[in-house]
Amino acid sequence: MNEQRGDKDRVDFSSAEKPTCPYCEQPATTTLEDETLAYGSGENVVDLHVRLPVRHCEACDFHFIDEVGERIQTEAVYRHHGLLTPWEIRATRERRRLSRAAFAEITGLGEATIKRWETGAKTQNRANDRYLRLLNDDSCWSALERLVAPRKARLGPVAHMVQFRV
Ligand SMILES: [Zn+2]
Repeated sequence: MNEQRGDKDRVDFSSAEKPTCPYCEQPATTTLEDETLAYGSGENVVDLHVRLPVRHCEACDFHFIDEVGERIQTEAVYRHHGLLTPWEIRATRERRRLSRAAFAEITGLGEATIKRWETGAKTQNRANDRYLRLLNDDSCWSALERLVAPRKARLGPVAHMVQFRV
């Protein structure tokens, strides 16, 4: 299947295995550090506790967080809200081996909306979060397919021709 071709929003973990310094491109070492992130504003600030892989370049003594650390921070925020993370939403679709267009057709969700959720550009509301969780359940998914299938068959030109022949 080639539905993943052209996706540029995927987290690249290849650099996570061998992190390199963005300045001098020397290999960097990793230390796991417990950090507290202040999330929210005003009276709604909460502390989110995360363990981040902090990279250190010994050549130029530069400390940095790369995309792996950024992803951990993002996941902490989604978990705080009790919502599926963008990566979990993507996995929900990919376990059905569907392109965004095909997933949109079956679920009734907008293709652009799915992309925004998967990339974290937009956060799904609670109702859609629950809908997405149901889609992870095989019996729910089968029920949805049964709901959609007869309608597609009725509208399809091939099915129409078969009907005339019978
Ligand atoms: Zn460096």
